[in-house]
Amino acid sequence: MATTTFTKKSLGFDVEPAVTPPPASTETAFLKKPKLGGKQRKRDIPEGLWTKCPKCETMVFDKELDENLKVCPKCSHHFPIGARERIHSLVETCSFEEMDADMISVDILKFTGVAAYKDKLEAYQKTTQLKDAVITGIGKIGECRVGLGVMDFAFLGGSMGSVVGEKLTRLIEASTDRSLPVIIISTSGGARMYEGMFSLMQMAKTCGALAYHAKAKLPYISVLTHPTTAGVMASYASVGDLILAEPAAMIGFAGPRVIKDTTQAELPPGFQTAEFLLDRGLIDAIVSRKEMKERLQYYLEFLGEGKRQMAALS
Ligand SMILES: [Zn+2]
Repeated sequence: MATTTFTKKSLGFDVEPAVTPPPASTETAFLKKPKLGGKQRKRDIPEGLWTKCPKCETMVFDKELDENLKVCPKCSHHFPIGARERIHSLVETCSFEEMDADMISVDILKFTGVAAYKDKLEAYQKTTQLKDAVITGIGKIGECRVGLGVMDFAFLGGSMGSVVGEKLTRLIEASTDRSLPVIIISTSGGARMYEGMFSLMQMAKTCGALAYHAKAKLPYISVLTHPTTAGVMASYASVGDLILAEPAAMIGFAGPRVIKDTTQAELPPGFQTAEFLLDRGLIDAIVSRKEMKERLQYYLEFLGEGKRQMAALS
């Protein structure tokens, strides 16, 4: 068992631990009264109550942040959100039937690096209360039943291993069988290196299932959230009939440093952000998290109506 403790930061989240803001200037710090004894010090605020927004640096009350779907109430910065919370924010109450909830990854290569893959899986299952990096199922958004897959970055960086690939493939196939649209909300660092070639094969498998889904003239909406990169972006995340993204999400294949080193060229400002890619036509729309449900409902109705009209013509 790994003994590593997992803080928000070690899970790759871009948030600062809860601390009281530093004094405004050194002058005021200098004029401050001598330090009080440990117990009386003002900075003994319980951990986890406040989160500092990395964009506007406001200290946001965690409860307020939760109620606001993890969006900063001051500057609309989108914090990472868990898969379950996101599903809850999108589907109608009690309409979501989860699929393959108990499917877990197997350490087929007996991978050991800094830590063994098996230990990592156990540790992440414990800290995130998830079995793997994606939750799939059939639910209702407004009046429309959809196949919904939601990734969670907190589980091993949202990496795509055999389980993520298999769960999504089954979701897409079930949706094809039932003539349902598919929505996949991605957040991922890419393929899961602990599974080597097996993780790369998921790229072809998921896209193959999506091709059959498209052949049945069923819509697929891909939603890209911060960050969606590498093997996931190079497969199912980038082949949506409609591709939406959350504001300021980092989206790309290789990281900017690698690209810069390889091409030896200065990268343009805003490179690999959702806004940059919208401007260049890869993304169809940027939708804030709080409007996501409403917009998905609108697009689903629009695409469904198109299909009905096509059926009437043929
Ligand atoms: Zn903010």
